[in-house]
Amino acid sequence: MTRPDLATLCARAGASDTPTIVQSRSHALPIIQHSAFDFPSIESSLPALSGDGYVYRREASPNADELAAAVARLEGGERGLATSSGMAAITATVLSTAGSGDAIAIQRDAYGGTHALFSRDLGRFGIDARYVDAYDTAAFAQAIDGAKLALVESVSNPLLQEVDIAACASACRARGVELVVDNTFGTPVRQRPLDDGADLVVHSATKFLGGHHDLCAGVVVGSAARVAAAGQLSGRLGLACSPLDAWLAVRGIRTLFVRMQRAWATAAALAERAAGHRAVRRVHSADRCALFSIDVGEFETASRAVERLQLIPLTPSLGGVVTTVSHSATSSHRALSPEQRAEAGIGDGLLRFSVGLESVEDLWSDLAEALSTAGPD
Ligand code: PLP
Repeated sequence: MTRPDLATLCARAGASDTPTIVQSRSHALPIIQHSAFDFPSIESSLPALSGDGYVYRREASPNADELAAAVARLEGGERGLATSSGMAAITATVLSTAGSGDAIAIQRDAYGGTHALFSRDLGRFGIDARYVDAYDTAAFAQAIDGAKLALVESVSNPLLQEVDIAACASACRARGVELVVDNTFGTPVRQRPLDDGADLVVHSATKFLGGHHDLCAGVVVGSAARVAAAGQLSGRLGLACSPLDAWLAVRGIRTLFVRMQRAWATAAALAERAAGHRAVRRVHSADRCALFSIDVGEFETASRAVERLQLIPLTPSLGGVVTTVSHSATSSHRALSPEQRAEAGIGDGLLRFSVGLESVEDLWSDLAEALSTAGPD
């Protein structure tokens, strides 16, 4: 059989060759919750202790491997690693290659948590973080020169700008810089950065991959050798994904393809209607994207609009079946200084919506009503 389509890969997530799970002989996967496995003899434990089998959950577990394999198949990568969060995936990726004296480059308007890790923590370990404009390929190429690794996001948060991954990849390749793409907002249903030349893909599986607001996990995908290095560090640092979270994520991935199609269509309809609302100064959206952001000007207007929403909760996350709103300046990007936020274009009146599976009419009526009554009297 030729490589199955993404819809098939999503629906069959988890139907892989992880032995412990195949033994369950069912499409419904078990949760293997063990913290450690038993062995009948010292000799029989040796292969597993050398990496061929399961010993201890902090290092590897069947459910985490199922999630890793499922995302590796979707992204078209050789191997995956499942971690306890998206930040754990980024930490394992960066710290398994960069060390004291190295420079790493990060997209200037990257997710605030990634920004904070690079600016607040990595510097203490002698790793120099450079903030780069990922939308200007010439400036990007110049800024990454001599760096060990560059991290960009497929679609940025919260302004939903699209990075030209192929152009970044060719700039990185020419300079021997490893390109890591955070594909959390894109998802493999929209784009596969490895096909465009990226070396590694990272995900917060907490978002669209899981899709139901009930887990925290991350994934790294890339070449077997590179992901193995990140996996070894993950085992030492204790960054592994829990079996339950991995199980939930695999189950979420089975509906990823249809969820994304539906959410994209609803997000596009809402963004178009919002653009015509008198309270909205600017709409940020992207093609085939389940998020859109609106700028309503002042903080007070944004605050009133959020309070008046009946159906859409204020939730500092995204990517689930329930449509949510977040105020970027006080949540995802709160770690940035006001100057850094201004530089990234994130004003106090910016509201980001993550669109779920509700009816577009119900969502619009909630949003339109909240916006209509939120403005200054
Ligand atoms: N990458 C992006 C683009 C995100 O939006 C987030 C979280 O919001 C992360 C990474 C971190 O993921 P997690 O919260 O699962 O650690």
